[in-house]
Amino acid sequence: MTNDPVKTVRTTCAYCGVGCGVIATPDGNGGVTVKGDPHHPANLGRLCSKGSQLGQTVSTDGRLLAPRIGDQDTDWDTALSLVAERFKSTIEQHGPDSVALYVSGQLLTEDYYVANKLIKGYMGTANIDTNSRLCMASTVAGHKRAFGTDTVPGNYTDLEQADLIVLVGSNLAWCHPVLYQRISAAKDANQNMRIINVDPRRTATSDLADLHMSIAPGSDVALFNRLLVEIVDRGLVDADYVAQHVNGFDDAVAAAHADVTETLDICDADLMAFLDMWCSTEKVVTVFSQGVNQSTSGADKVNSIINCHLATGRIGRTGMGPFSVTGQPNAMGGREVGGLANMLACHLDIENAEHRNAVRTFWDSPTMPTQAGKKAVDMFDAVADGTIKAIWIMCTNPVVSLPEADKVRQALLDCDFVVVSEMFATTDTAKCADVLLPATGWGEKDGTVTNSDRTVSRQRPFLPKPGMARNDWDIMADVGRRMGWKDAFDYATPEDVFREYAALSGIATKFERDFDISDWTDDYNAMFPRRWGTERFFENGGFYHADKKAKMLPLKSRAPKSAITTDRPFRLNTGRVRDHWHTMTRTARSPRLSQHLAEPFVEIHPDTASRLGIKPAHLVKLTSDHGTAIVRALVTDRVRRREVFVPIHWTGETAPTGRVDALVTGYVDPVSGQPESKASTVAVAPFDPE
Ligand code: SF4
Repeated sequence: MTNDPVKTVRTTCAYCGVGCGVIATPDGNGGVTVKGDPHHPANLGRLCSKGSQLGQTVSTDGRLLAPRIGDQDTDWDTALSLVAERFKSTIEQHGPDSVALYVSGQLLTEDYYVANKLIKGYMGTANIDTNSRLCMASTVAGHKRAFGTDTVPGNYTDLEQADLIVLVGSNLAWCHPVLYQRISAAKDANQNMRIINVDPRRTATSDLADLHMSIAPGSDVALFNRLLVEIVDRGLVDADYVAQHVNGFDDAVAAAHADVTETLDICDADLMAFLDMWCSTEKVVTVFSQGVNQSTSGADKVNSIINCHLATGRIGRTGMGPFSVTGQPNAMGGREVGGLANMLACHLDIENAEHRNAVRTFWDSPTMPTQAGKKAVDMFDAVADGTIKAIWIMCTNPVVSLPEADKVRQALLDCDFVVVSEMFATTDTAKCADVLLPATGWGEKDGTVTNSDRTVSRQRPFLPKPGMARNDWDIMADVGRRMGWKDAFDYATPEDVFREYAALSGIATKFERDFDISDWTDDYNAMFPRRWGTERFFENGGFYHADKKAKMLPLKSRAPKSAITTDRPFRLNTGRVRDHWHTMTRTARSPRLSQHLAEPFVEIHPDTASRLGIKPAHLVKLTSDHGTAIVRALVTDRVRRREVFVPIHWTGETAPTGRVDALVTGYVDPVSGQPESKASTVAVAPFDPE
């Protein structure tokens, strides 16, 4: 540990996709004070509870300080030689698709870039996916279907300049708090601004809303199809915009008409208020998040929202447009470097031969898969059935966070070779590793991240790397060199990686992608937050399908795939709480954050609790076809009678509970591969320890 005075640095928060700028001042003894960066365009000086307590999470207590093979500490040379040898021999014996990387929206863009190059360009498989598959894959798919690329049309200022914000499946107050604060301040300043919250569950976000619509889980497509019909009936279609810039209008409207018979399970007055507000307000932003994405019809939900904006031309203009908020700090950066099993860097597609060949030529790579790899849930199924024999997991904890989590744990325990790069040896996933590699964390890492409105910011180090910890890009590049690709992975700094990535973005412009950051390399270290592309896309068309038009899709609503039965009569909703993040490996270290909610709980309606004999604060047993959890009852009418809500954060060891994702069924959206994390079915009963 150094006692040298260390300069204040401008960096970016480790948590959500708002991507707030942080000014960090280390004390020279391993601690740090943080405050919001007043010059960062995402937060303008604000921080939420999680961001403001980052200083309580940086202690090196309990950190993994050296590589481990089994339970023995070792040196890097021994550990990485083993990783390289085992991945190489597995590929030689079983083919490239027998190996996989599972990465994270908390990796930096430079880490993500090297991971993609290593596995797609050199190992020869597209078996790389990310925990962002659980976060925003349905939005990516929806954007690509509508726009031709995964492009976010607007930016945060549109939310402040709108007269109507519709928050769909988003508890922004707890999951993107600084964006919520910005909206709240804008609403105070604009007496005409109205907010609608569409969510089966009443949340802290609903408090700001003029209208909370408690729709049935999974009925978002029916709602927006109903809106599309209303837009047509009221003569609000922007015929010129549609004629010039949109395909598929007639089919989408016909499908919407056919779908309006679907029940929305909401009162007529609320529905009419929603339709009236949306139709009578030109400046509408529809914000959507995990309640839309985490569904077996997630991509359709996204497109049902986009359909309404395309039909009215309310896109790409100030204060208008569909707007997805990403869950993780660099989910967007991962999308930009092709960090999903079906993508290549710079918004290029792996299944497009021209795109593939351009990237392969640029990388001078010996091989390139021609098809998408396995997406997250399928990837771990392939580990379970032995198709994937070697997997390297970085910066994420799938044994807690993936659906059917007990199955995931068993799959890893049975897998031939599991590598885990982590800050801590104590995560549920790290305990399954054959080789454990100490990785740097927030405050030690150096690179870039992209937030939900396409603003790229630097994460800068201000603490020494503890023990033998190394950056993820550096560890992967070392393995690449050990596997024989010395020149391709000859990076000395994250700036080297970023320069290569920026140059590749210049190549992508020949495919008429507007993602060009090739001139961003002048002063990497001093880089100020900046948005790629223009402020807004698509006001005057210019979509990325071949004919430059957008597509409206014909959509039919579908119920969640898990069936309600007499044995499993309740729908299980899952989500975040205000003060914890993912599986709590960082936030549980903060005493202040742990004060908010000390243990997991199940929100259950008073009528249901009474009927089942469940008293407030008593233990409740939840059972699905995949596992059980025991949590404390929080009796509240925030949830509907046939639904319960359990937070995602707690692990098997931190409460009287199993992991809630052990209950969640691994059904996925057929288009996006995103799991339906909010609509599994469970039995609920008082817990009797006897
Ligand atoms: Fe960090 Fe998100 Fe909070 Fe901003 S809103 S401080 S990015 S957790």
